[in-house]
Amino acid sequence: MVGSERENGSSPTPPAQKADVKKYGVMNPISYAGPSEVDVQKNALLEKLLMDSGIYESAEETARREEVLSRLDKIIKDWVKQLTRQKGYTEKMVEEANGILRTFGSYRLGVHGPNADIDTLCIGPSYVTREHDFFVILHNILLEMEEVSDLQPVDDAHVPVMKFKFQGISIDLLYASISLLIVPEDLDISHNSVLYNTDEKTVRSLNGCRVADQILKLIPNVENFCTTLRCLKFWAKRRGVYSNVTGFLGGVNWALLVAQVCQLYPNAIPSMLVSRFFRVYTHWRWPNPVMLCPIEEDELGFNVWDPRKWSRDRTHLMPIITPAYPCMNSSYNVSASTLRVMVEQFHFGNKVCEEIELNKANWSALFEPSLFFESYKNYLQVDIIAADADDLLSWRGWVESRLRLLTLKIERDTDGMLQCHPFPNEYVDTSKPCSHCAFFMGLQRQPGVKVQEGQQFDIRATVDEFKQGVNSYNHWRPGMDIFVSHVRRRQLPAYIFPEGYKRQRQLRHTPQHSTRTSNGDAERSSSPSSDRRFKRKHDASIADIGCGKPKKLSPESAGIAPSSPVIQGLACESPIEQNVVMESEDGANSESMQPPTIRLSLESTA
Ligand code: ATP
Ligand code: MG
Repeated sequence: MVGSERENGSSPTPPAQKADVKKYGVMNPISYAGPSEVDVQKNALLEKLLMDSGIYESAEETARREEVLSRLDKIIKDWVKQLTRQKGYTEKMVEEANGILRTFGSYRLGVHGPNADIDTLCIGPSYVTREHDFFVILHNILLEMEEVSDLQPVDDAHVPVMKFKFQGISIDLLYASISLLIVPEDLDISHNSVLYNTDEKTVRSLNGCRVADQILKLIPNVENFCTTLRCLKFWAKRRGVYSNVTGFLGGVNWALLVAQVCQLYPNAIPSMLVSRFFRVYTHWRWPNPVMLCPIEEDELGFNVWDPRKWSRDRTHLMPIITPAYPCMNSSYNVSASTLRVMVEQFHFGNKVCEEIELNKANWSALFEPSLFFESYKNYLQVDIIAADADDLLSWRGWVESRLRLLTLKIERDTDGMLQCHPFPNEYVDTSKPCSHCAFFMGLQRQPGVKVQEGQQFDIRATVDEFKQGVNSYNHWRPGMDIFVSHVRRRQLPAYIFPEGYKRQRQLRHTPQHSTRTSNGDAERSSSPSSDRRFKRKHDASIADIGCGKPKKLSPESAGIAPSSPVIQGLACESPIEQNVVMESEDGANSESMQPPTIRLSLESTA
């Protein structure tokens, strides 16, 4: 699977080391080599860069987190006792009643950055229910507390969670009721017996902690793992491939990928592990799974990932299997497009690391931000609006979780001819106080496919289907809306570019007028300008954003492409300049009699 290792300049492995070494994974190590002098020097430079990059939290923040966790633990214990009394249990039971708080995710692994959330799990006794006791009673207790803000129960999620901030620190709190009347403080949840008589949601909730514990047990050196993982998470964020929900990889996936490399190079230090990481995953033949341990079958009967048995598992493109029973694929969200983007990024990382090894580059080259907004000629802009900030929080979360489907649907409906690259970052125009945010997707024709004369792709139905799905949101409230617009690179809104970023092209602001169609979409009615340069259909997507009154948001007031309804469809021809729907000299749209379509160049990336 992975090419043989050349350990130029590394120290030879003492024979005893090989004999003694514990085998951690399912694959044999590629190399037992430890670091050379040069590796140690490079490692110091890498660690310094990471330190200077602001990815470590301060001692004060660490202390604040610990204080918050201890407050939460107390709240949970009091809540369980209160419920035990209310449910009529004896005083002795009330005295012994207990709930415990465990952490998992990046905090548990010791790789969280400043402002990262703390993933927590509350484990309660069998009689304390998730539906009512957790999502109603505990929710109401938290609601009343001054230190708690942004409380958001997500009870219908795959893994139900209560999200909130406690003294400003983001907390994800899961709940698992186990089949014990009294939960011991030192409960060992690594044993499968903790899963007896539990439902799937409880298993999933418990598994965050069980997976984190297993990862830490299955790696040869925790410190090297943590530094390497911090480095890779930082890299993935800079390169636009850190996001589970968008179809890239999230914290646990990166942790598992790094852990696998740690197993393959048990004596390597972070500088070596980073370059081995890119070497391994540049050559990895997906969908071969990444697995830290064998997949365990168990008499408890929960489904485990098994492509021989489950046809759905056969569709997984980049399986990264969790190491705790029931083993699952943690990266089922990955699609052909996001896999393609990630593999490109692995190649980028590998190339830079090769240059670093030859002293032709330094570590900073690895963390160059990706030039997403320079990479495509065409983008889809997905604008999300809501009546106020609270509504936007939940609506945005829902739409973001659906965006992956838009990518899939577009590629499905164009037989893969039109490739989508969803970008995980959300953009907000901070100069305007409106409840709006936007996501972007790069679009390109599948490279290497011959363009046929007059060939068109019509994705009207695709976008409609996507919007229909999105609008079926269970918690939909008036004001929640979504607009999908085609924008060309030079029409991208100014607010997406970070301070100091020099745009290569001049931004043109084009005021245009919009009306709402009966189906709720925006439609351009006329343009006040006769300047032909400003008559491109989608120029208005970079128009002024005026959203002084958030309660009365319209797409145009939120800075959304007034031409959104034309986004009901997408057509493409070549070349691009002839594609843009132009208005004639007298201001009339030369294509006004034609059905509305998005016009889009499908040329390869610039
Ligand atoms: P971050 O620093 O981004 O918060 P994290 O590792 O904490 O990284 P989260 O996205 O906060 O990642 O997820 C928290 C935990 O939830 C993960 O560590 C993992 O245990 C569990 N989890 C999240 N997504 C998945 C998934 N797709 N499959 C299995 N477990 C998951
Ligand atoms: Mg987390």
